[in-house]
Amino acid sequence: MEGLRLAHNIGDENHSNYHTREQILACDDPIGFDGVYRNVYENQDVLKGKSGIMFVMGNFLGGNNEFDLKNVPKLERYCTLDEVKELCSLYAFEIGWHTWSHRNLCELSEKEILQEIAAPFRTRYLRYPYGEYCNKVIECVKRAGYEKAYSVIQGVYDHPYKMFSNYVERI
Ligand SMILES: [Zn+2]
Repeated sequence: MEGLRLAHNIGDENHSNYHTREQILACDDPIGFDGVYRNVYENQDVLKGKSGIMFVMGNFLGGNNEFDLKNVPKLERYCTLDEVKELCSLYAFEIGWHTWSHRNLCELSEKEILQEIAAPFRTRYLRYPYGEYCNKVIECVKRAGYEKAYSVIQGVYDHPYKMFSNYVERI
């Protein structure tokens, strides 16, 4: 998926982890949702006519973001796998994988990396936790058979496992 932009929460919090409904509506590029937060499901009417990827984290499906409260200003819930699958069936979104536990893959052994990126369903797309990757991680991603892997802090536009994607614009 080319020109993918990233977003986390949909809501009115004045914080970089949140996009308003208006900002999502104004985005004409495919959107990759990181989480996927329950407020995306609750605001799903803004996904009509949009496309993109729903990147889920295995251990947090149906849970909350307590582990990530230094990056998000308040406690939020994540969708269940059924809710994400429902969104993907209703709108032009594909499911992607954001690892089981959202650990920085560069700090793990090869065996641990392969475990973290092994999705329990078929998917073409991976998003790196914290956007962090290195050569060791890329080798594992290739072996696992992913088509593309995305970062938001490092990357280029023409390498399948170093895909750079900006955030949805804050208008
Ligand atoms: Zn993430």
